[in-house]
Amino acid sequence: QAKAEGKGRYVLCCTSEKSRVVDVLTIENELANAIKNDEFKLVYQPVLDLNSEKVVGFETLIRWFHPKKGIIYPDYFIDVAEKSGQIVEIDRLVLAKACKILESWQATSSSSVYLNVNVSSNSLATHDFLSRFQETTNAFQFSKSRLNVEITERALIDNLKQANVLLRSMKQLGHKVILDDFGTGYSSLSYLHQLPIDIVKIDRSFIMSLDEADASISIVRAIISLAQSLNMQVVAEGIEHVTQLTALQQLKAHFGQGYYFYKPLTSDDALALFYESS
Ligand code: C2E
Ligand code: MG
Ligand code: MG
Ligand code: MG
Repeated sequence: QAKAEGKGRYVLCCTSEKSRVVDVLTIENELANAIKNDEFKLVYQPVLDLNSEKVVGFETLIRWFHPKKGIIYPDYFIDVAEKSGQIVEIDRLVLAKACKILESWQATSSSSVYLNVNVSSNSLATHDFLSRFQETTNAFQFSKSRLNVEITERALIDNLKQANVLLRSMKQLGHKVILDDFGTGYSSLSYLHQLPIDIVKIDRSFIMSLDEADASISIVRAIISLAQSLNMQVVAEGIEHVTQLTALQQLKAHFGQGYYFYKPLTSDDALALFYESS
């Protein structure tokens, strides 16, 4: 049987798994180069106010521009980077890019736009996360309230007490905390009220089936009412059809994003769109 040895390496029994291991090692090696040469770019998916249907901000999403293989999507390398620990370095590069863009946007007076940056649980668990985060954000000129962090439940469950302290500090600095992929994790509801979360992002899997199954509409309704009672807002991700949008508007979901509105855009297109629609 395959036995985990950490760092994404496995002892094998079967040849069929061999190529997968070579894959992981190749990705890991290529990621090391990608980090060194900074082969990453950000794209920006609009987040809309579902009531006014206006763009209020963007989620930054990473793309890897491999010199030979072209664009590589996060699904292909984030897992490997999390197992190898390389994600911490990648998250730092992403944060710096996001801050730089915010600074340039703020300089062009679009000061009310906000950016959401994904931060992995590995990064949050590093002992110097907060000091490094501040060091980076302080190196750029923009209002801290324009930068939000998206974290997943896993980051919180592993160490609730530590997460609590960290999130409170982030909030004190002016950032909003968004709980990503909500509903896919573990004991979602039991700890939510203990944490200083501003926005709950309802996972795409619930939005996907909104227009088909009665079950998911009940779940989404429950999440929205729970969030409201805890003074949190909700954002729905993965809206692809008008029927899903209508359902979410009826349920009074605050924000939404998805291909129905926009796919992720370049920074220039994102800024132009923000001007157009505000
Ligand atoms: P996520 O944070 O939940 O991001 C949402 C993903 O759903 C994105 O995929 C986005 O392009 C996709 N998406 C948005 N709207 C729709 C839609 O209407 N339909 C469908 N089918 N998909 C939609 P992406 O960019 O491939 O990112 C996948 C995951 O990779 C992200 O999930 C996040 O967990 C991770 N990730 C992306 N960028 C970063 C980053 O900079 N740092 C870290 N640590 N993780 C990242
Ligand atoms: Mg996200
Ligand atoms: Mg998500
Ligand atoms: Mg996700």
